[in-house]
Amino acid sequence: MIKLTKSKDAPAVLTSDDAKNSMTTIKANAENGNLKATDFESKIYDGEGVKSLLKKDQNDKCAYCEVTLAGDYGVVEHYRPKTKWKDIKGNEGLGYYWLAYDWDNLLCSCDICNNAANKGYLFPLSNPNKRGDTNEEQPLLINPYKEDPGDSIEFHEHIAVHKNKKGEVTIEVFDLNGKKKDKKGEPRRRDLVECRKNIWGQAKYLFDLLTEQSQDTQQAIDTVRELFGKDENMFAGMIRYQKRW
Ligand SMILES: [Zn+2]
Repeated sequence: MIKLTKSKDAPAVLTSDDAKNSMTTIKANAENGNLKATDFESKIYDGEGVKSLLKKDQNDKCAYCEVTLAGDYGVVEHYRPKTKWKDIKGNEGLGYYWLAYDWDNLLCSCDICNNAANKGYLFPLSNPNKRGDTNEEQPLLINPYKEDPGDSIEFHEHIAVHKNKKGEVTIEVFDLNGKKKDKKGEPRRRDLVECRKNIWGQAKYLFDLLTEQSQDTQQAIDTVRELFGKDENMFAGMIRYQKRW
């Protein structure tokens, strides 16, 4: 995960008359206790230009785990879940329905980060008594558009290590170290961890080689960062927040 910058202008579909009409229905149904998942229209929140602009802003990578989303991969994901929220203690409630078409609340993620085994409806807070007050809430999931993930997560080799509670919950929810098992007892995210390990192996090889040859550690670090830590590189965060440096 690396810090991201979102394009300022929201795609027009999110502020269209269709979006306004749909939101009127959503709010009315939410107030009457009749809100249904089908009230949210994917042709609006995933409408023309939304996913493509998010993917451009994210260098075609998942906002959370940094795997590549080249081609047609990736889903438009709501940071604050629209239909309902859950926390890690099992509490749940009505979602942040009013943010369903809010540009500020949208990211693009891979299917696996987004699915029910990982983020799903989860949106834990460190101050649950402020739930719903988005100015006061302190989410326990990193939003890479709002903060530098390196404040909460560092890497020891290819393993993500938390620096605070938010980092701990984020690693757990997105299963960034591949700890969750499927029904057969196999790790669900083995591919993610293997892929990160491979890239770390390449970076480490070059780092060790350069350090050995030049005796200039800083130059070696700079070279490795330049080659592996660019915005468009998979797992650039792993290189940037590497503890050994
Ligand atoms: Zn992901």
